[in-house]
Amino acid sequence: MKLSHIEHIGIAVKSLEAAIPYYENMLGLKCYAVEEITEQKVKTAFFKVGQTKIELLESTDPEGPIGKFIEKKGEGVHHIAFATEGGIQNSLDELESKGVQLIDKSPRKGAEGLNIAFLHPKSTIGVLTELCEDPNKVNC
Ligand code: ZN
Repeated sequence: MKLSHIEHIGIAVKSLEAAIPYYENMLGLKCYAVEEITEQKVKTAFFKVGQTKIELLESTDPEGPIGKFIEKKGEGVHHIAFATEGGIQNSLDELESKGVQLIDKSPRKGAEGLNIAFLHPKSTIGVLTELCEDPNKVNC
């Protein structure tokens, strides 16, 4: 199991339109992509800070995962995503064999064409954790 860096931090917001100006005008970041992920019922906006990204998540459906999160906890940090090295499936298999509960037993497609998988917050001391792998940089 090897993580190379924090790929992104996912932040749940009620409205991208309301949140983007804060990141651009106050923090001086530039939104370089807005993408809707229909299966996850979210619209995302991305900013880069070094090699780490900020991923804003706006729900497109109150019954979707981000809609439910905001209803329960309000806006704020939703998840941390680590970039894996050596194959995301290998990392998932290793974690599962060590007793970590997985939300995704095998990777699926996330924003920006990354392969992603979530670990269950029950097993991660309260932090929803995502593993990512750039399929263009797979070296396993
Ligand atoms: Zn994410």
